[in-house]
Amino acid sequence: MLLGCMFLRDGTVGKLFFNVGKGFEFHLIILAGFFVVAAIFTSFYEYHGFGSQEGMIRRGPCEPLVCVTFDDGPSSKNTPQILDILKDKGVKATFFVTGKYVEMYPEIAQRIVAEGHDIGNHTYNHKDLAIFNRKVILSELRKTDEAIWEATGIRTRLFRPPRGICGNAARKLLIEEGYKIILWTISTLDWRKVKPKTIFWRVKLFIRDGAIILFHDSGSLFGCGDSGRTNTVRALPLVIDFLKEEGYKIITVSEMLECLEESEQGKSVLGEA
Ligand SMILES: [Zn+2]
Repeated sequence: MLLGCMFLRDGTVGKLFFNVGKGFEFHLIILAGFFVVAAIFTSFYEYHGFGSQEGMIRRGPCEPLVCVTFDDGPSSKNTPQILDILKDKGVKATFFVTGKYVEMYPEIAQRIVAEGHDIGNHTYNHKDLAIFNRKVILSELRKTDEAIWEATGIRTRLFRPPRGICGNAARKLLIEEGYKIILWTISTLDWRKVKPKTIFWRVKLFIRDGAIILFHDSGSLFGCGDSGRTNTVRALPLVIDFLKEEGYKIITVSEMLECLEESEQGKSVLGEA
């Protein structure tokens, strides 16, 4: 458009550039539309899935039980503060850790386990499973399992795919390897660095029996950089107090799975029906 204005004295050239400008705008609108549709599609997939997705667990049984989960850590800045809050509130949570950071901060991974929290695998480098082959996925899983084992002496079978995206081939591979694939019911959207008030209101709005709540103790919009999570840390006590006031019992994902296995609902979710 700008170039078109510069050549206005020459009607032909001006018209040509305006046409290019209009075409460009049209393509921008199409591209923006594509991203909006892709975002809606991805969001729907993450919360609900499509078709039969045996082994993908998005919530627990219909009982007043909830899980508080943290992804992408451990972080030297945020995880100790989160652990202090959980200790103070007497709450056990679940941490889906990246192998890279477990190797970097093994003492924090040890503290997670020593204080009674659950620990799960979230890949080594926070890789999207849908775009990598079997060899890469297995390497990500094994390196992380090994890092968790070295740091804590725990062999975890819990797994959460980065960004909640797990293709059919990866899903089958994870089940073959004996993992329980854990997604979430409520995302606090703390990765967008929303205000503590927004995190709290999202939980208040979407809370229901068996909810699995997603927070982040590390990570960044792209990749798995160790971002500040001040808003998560500030919102967490408000969320925990609210859940307790509403009569919810906060349990770990392993405890939730036990409850799920015993329930009729769980038999269909876990593919045992
Ligand atoms: Zn993640």
